[in-house]
Amino acid sequence: MKTLLAIDRVTKNFGRIAAVDDVSLAIRENEFFALLGPSGCGKTTLLRMLAGFETPSGGNILLDGKDISAVPPNRRPVNLMFQSYALFPHMSVRANIAYGLEMERLPTEKIRTRVDEIMATTQLSALADRKPEQLSGGQKQRVALARALVKRPRLLLLDEPLGALDKKLRGAMQMELKRLQHEVGITFVVVTHDQEEALVMADRMAVLKDGKLLQCDTPHEIYERPADRFVADFIGVMNFCEGRAAPDGVTARDGTMLRGRVPEGMAVDDRAVAAVRPERVTLFPAANIANRVAGTVEALAYHGLDLQLHIRTALTEKPFLVRITADAADRRPVRVGETVEIGWAAEDTRIFRN
Ligand code: ATP
Repeated sequence: MKTLLAIDRVTKNFGRIAAVDDVSLAIRENEFFALLGPSGCGKTTLLRMLAGFETPSGGNILLDGKDISAVPPNRRPVNLMFQSYALFPHMSVRANIAYGLEMERLPTEKIRTRVDEIMATTQLSALADRKPEQLSGGQKQRVALARALVKRPRLLLLDEPLGALDKKLRGAMQMELKRLQHEVGITFVVVTHDQEEALVMADRMAVLKDGKLLQCDTPHEIYERPADRFVADFIGVMNFCEGRAAPDGVTARDGTMLRGRVPEGMAVDDRAVAAVRPERVTLFPAANIANRVAGTVEALAYHGLDLQLHIRTALTEKPFLVRITADAADRRPVRVGETVEIGWAAEDTRIFRN
């Protein structure tokens, strides 16, 4: 797929702080791309440089192969949707959406057609004459989106687009945003600190920390093969067993050998951590499972489709988290206080520097 936006060794310094530190990324045409990271990682600063509200201290930003680093915001084929939506309170939904096209002095008939089209796509046609104060949070969000999309930018930037919505509505809007992006065929770059949101929506995502890019890949790759301990911890849930590297795994602090592939460059006896996702751990593992350890069930929580268990083992200080399907729990029920064996395959161990 063609690269739309090339971010080439971009840095942004505020005094002595490098808010964005030597970041390179290629964002493809028609891609739903997420910038993800904890508060202060630099994701908003990077987005503002793409919009033209900040100038990079170093590096280049190329759109369709042309350097846009010095092009002012209103001259870029890029639109930014603010978290606050910034709708005009005295104007109707239709007028809010039409505003940008009127500023461009498009013919009235053309404006009408394009506004009608985008209102249909964003399911706002029935609300065309309402004022923002007569809309729900989700509806306001759709108006803000429609207003940004009607100008047909090459690139739409969204800063925490679902941040103002409650949890249930967020889930629905995540799917809605994804559908919309697919339908309009415009490249979306979304900033979020919510890893679940990024996993659900993005075709690819970049994980940032302290201004640095840690990993850029599909949600599936990042979940399955996190680049380091921070990414593994930030995305999803992990059990971490600290110890020392051995030729084919990690020797845990209690001496248990946890088998898995040791990353290149790690030497025997280096400080290391073996990690495994809760859903990859089984109770009562089959005889051929490489990693196994005894523990006591400390707590059980029912979550509908699955069951989460806290198992006290000698491997870690915190209880080991295990997720099993409700089916598996029905076949072989467990009780709090019971001694069990847990296990996982060597291929499900991820080993990181510690
Ligand atoms: P959040 O999720 O909290 O919005 P973020 O990942 O978007 O965080 P940024 O807002 O990009 O992070 O900020 C990155 C770093 O740069 C932070 O340390 C922040 O304090 C600093 N920073 C951002 N803008 C400025 C500014 N205008 N002047 C000085 N420092 C700034």
